[in-house]
Amino acid sequence: MSTTRILVIGGAGYVGSHFTLCASNAGLRVTVMDNLSKGHRGALRGAEFFQGDLLEFEPLQAHLSRNRYHGIFHFAANCLVGESVSDPAQYYLNNVIAAFNMLEAMRYTNHDRVIFSSSCAVYGIPETLPLKEDHPKNPVSPYGRTKLAVEWMLEDYCTAYGIRSASLRYFNAAGCEPDDGLGEDHRPETHLIPNVVRYALKLQDDLVIFGNDYPTPDGTCIRDYIHVTDLAEAHLKALEKLDSLPLLRLNLGTGRGFSNLDVVKAVGNACGVSLKPEIGPRRPGDPPELVADSGEAFRVLDWRPTRSDLKSICSEVLRWFSEHPEGYAE
Ligand code: UDP
Repeated sequence: MSTTRILVIGGAGYVGSHFTLCASNAGLRVTVMDNLSKGHRGALRGAEFFQGDLLEFEPLQAHLSRNRYHGIFHFAANCLVGESVSDPAQYYLNNVIAAFNMLEAMRYTNHDRVIFSSSCAVYGIPETLPLKEDHPKNPVSPYGRTKLAVEWMLEDYCTAYGIRSASLRYFNAAGCEPDDGLGEDHRPETHLIPNVVRYALKLQDDLVIFGNDYPTPDGTCIRDYIHVTDLAEAHLKALEKLDSLPLLRLNLGTGRGFSNLDVVKAVGNACGVSLKPEIGPRRPGDPPELVADSGEAFRVLDWRPTRSDLKSICSEVLRWFSEHPEGYAE
């Protein structure tokens, strides 16, 4: 039997690099394409690599005509809610136009399976919780709108051209694989868990919690933290499932929410200190609470998160930043 070949676009980024590790450990032959605008060479694991950009259509199409992939995994996107509010153009270009190029290159080269990193940001402010896939889609940030736009493209490309796809709506990706030297390294870092950990380790001077006047028990936002390796495993299962189901849209979360202050406390416990964040104004585009009903993914993919316990996530991230205070070397 020949080895399954896959292309991972954005495989040097945070979720993409953890997926690449997981896929190569599962015996797949992985090629990573990344433009290295945000990703790190030091995060590449177990894969062939070439530097490429989805906004450059000709080389992409040439690559896909020379190589045959069983599945294409799309992780390459801008993913900051706040930044998308202040600079939406970047998001429409890098998330929507780039994904369109990928789909066109797939269409011309007869590649017909794609797994897309979508987001719970497609729902907007929840009307009911936990969020199910059929909840109305009213994204409140340009980031969420770009993810929804690509989901619609995927639906239309499935109907018209037979391109099979899974849109996996991540809740909050968290955790890392310190044993393999993989962590979360965004520059600048805007995500809660790495920021709290960096503050606890005195790698940054301030920690600001954005708003404590939300309609939640402690007034801070609530999120559903899902381990990146749990996400990665769901991606592998989604690829298999496309054989029988051509269009999937699934929530990937745990069903359990933690407030921003719960996260501060969990990191404090992991490092044995009491952390005192500042309280700042709300961050634009932040819904008060995002918690998944992932029952559909559990059922369809026969998948369960096994690594998403907040305490162990905090310990892993703490370990990675202790070992890599400056992040990846390259
Ligand atoms: N957050 C915060 N301080 C930070 C970073 C994030 O209070 O330094 C809050 C943010 O406003 C949101 C939650 O933490 O309520 C999760 O934000 P993150 O950026 O980690 O993920 P998002 O939910 O935007 O995908």
